[in-house]
Amino acid sequence: LEEGARSSLLRHRHRLEQDIKPGYLMDHMISDGVVTVDEEERIRKQPTRKDQAVSLLELLLKKDNQAYVSFYNALVKEAYDDLANLLHGHLPRPPCEGDKSPSDGPTSYVQAMLSEGGVPQRPVVFVSRPELVNRVREKLYRLQKNPGWVTVFGMAGSGKSVLAAEAVRHHGLIEDCFPGGIHWLSIGQLDKPDLLVKIQTLCFRLEQSLDSQSLHRPPNSLDEAKERLRFLMLRRYPRSLLILDDIWDSTVLKAFDIHCRILLTTRNRSVTDSVSGAKYEVGVESGLDEDKSLEILGLYTRTRPRTLPEEARSIVRECKGSPLVVSLIGALLKEKPDRWSYYLRQLQQKQFKRIRKSSSYDYDALDQAMAASIEVLPEEHQELYRDLTVLEKDIKIPAQVLCVLWDLEEEEVEDILHEFVNKSLLFVDSNTKPYLYYLHDLQLDFLVEQNRTQLEQHYGDRHPTSGEEECLYWIRFLTFHMAKANLTQELYSHMFSLDWVSTKSQIMGPAHLINDYVEFGSILDKEVRGQFQEFLSLNGHQLEQRPFPDVVQLALSQPHNSEVYRQARQQAETRASAG
Ligand code: ADP
Repeated sequence: LEEGARSSLLRHRHRLEQDIKPGYLMDHMISDGVVTVDEEERIRKQPTRKDQAVSLLELLLKKDNQAYVSFYNALVKEAYDDLANLLHGHLPRPPCEGDKSPSDGPTSYVQAMLSEGGVPQRPVVFVSRPELVNRVREKLYRLQKNPGWVTVFGMAGSGKSVLAAEAVRHHGLIEDCFPGGIHWLSIGQLDKPDLLVKIQTLCFRLEQSLDSQSLHRPPNSLDEAKERLRFLMLRRYPRSLLILDDIWDSTVLKAFDIHCRILLTTRNRSVTDSVSGAKYEVGVESGLDEDKSLEILGLYTRTRPRTLPEEARSIVRECKGSPLVVSLIGALLKEKPDRWSYYLRQLQQKQFKRIRKSSSYDYDALDQAMAASIEVLPEEHQELYRDLTVLEKDIKIPAQVLCVLWDLEEEEVEDILHEFVNKSLLFVDSNTKPYLYYLHDLQLDFLVEQNRTQLEQHYGDRHPTSGEEECLYWIRFLTFHMAKANLTQELYSHMFSLDWVSTKSQIMGPAHLINDYVEFGSILDKEVRGQFQEFLSLNGHQLEQRPFPDVVQLALSQPHNSEVYRQARQQAETRASAG
């Protein structure tokens, strides 16, 4: 029942209870199909007219708009004109074309439907993402005739939940596909007992809005809960939509594998692999563009985008299109409007921990949201994922690089990459052959930040001074900059030098180096590159050891016709002659 209608019933309850004769009214309402014969019988059993009126109103308050309209019509037919007039002002308009507000904003019908089902409202600061929303709606329309699953997947904070809620905020869609209602359930990471409680609560909510008289005991096992839910969805709420927000685990989904209509959000694209029925998916891969991000900052700080301070653009650039990060910063600036340059510096220095939470988000800070995604990986894959720190910004690599980096068979690498992509930890560009893989900028920043301590250990047990930190940077990125600047000659002399190999692998680990060889493969001489690469993959774990091994010694066991051997031999001779 719409809010206005409900409140008018409550307000005039007393008058109505005094005056109406429920018997006649109920006859009309039964023929309208809004009151059942059972319900009527229960009301008629009440000893006095007044008692009957009280329970009729009680019943009405639990019903929908249609019942209110039918009750109103019954009053008119039975010539209770005064009473009908009291209710007239809040007659819910039947859903019709004219009810759709022009701006695509929610109608009262939509609002009533969504708040009944616990669908969250728009965040206070909200920007539209029409292209994505339409894609989700289009998939939801596929559930019109048949049950099935629509999965919205993407990385932490990409705006999946906001998108799911927005997609159903649409009059035509609800009317055409889900007239039975929309029910939202926040899931998150939970264990079996918690899941049981969630489903119990959902069943209770669904039963309540039908009829509070039916006081079933709560289902006390997951199987029982699943059966209860199946019954409710099939029999009592046909053509309704269940939204499961933030699913981590496919075993959770099995409890909802009951042949109904489901929209779910997840970071893990493959959660629906083990459930049955039609499946559709929408990936949230693109972030917010500059204008939308500026709009968010503007809304938080109540500034028109044109008049935002000059730091705004740089902040937006650092946020990399992540709705979560932009909103976190926006919320902070709302509190401290004079801190634009401070927060910009924090972002540039990747001080994720200091960018504290916004109230609507469950994670303390961005890094926890990211870390959570990594922690659910099997332990050995966490290690492998951390190795991706070696990827350079904006560079996409083929699976082959990772075969070398991880020292694994191609098939194994493919499986792991598939897992990472499915969990939104990695992105794949499948427009090319072979496919190319890359990290979202924020993920890379996060990994680099996490690994910084590790790098420092590589560097020695001392904390690098700022000069040394710069040096670290150069060792890491030198080759990259050389290649970018077309300094092919310099690139050659570095990459094909045993000294450089020794320096860089001592400081950064051999993985970075291997990455360089594959990365710049097309510029480098194929044969020599192969020799260096082979040397690194054969001795990879040695080069991880501390104290650091003697690279010249290792290199002397390479094939004698290789450049690696030639240089090692030369150095050995120099050493010998130096005594
Ligand atoms: P996810 O479900 O992908 O983790 P959410 O949908 O919960 O992400 O969004 C995270 C945060 O990002 C929200 O709390 C909100 O502050 C912000 N956000 C997401 N989408 C929008 C949007 N369209 N407009 C404004 N802010 C948004």
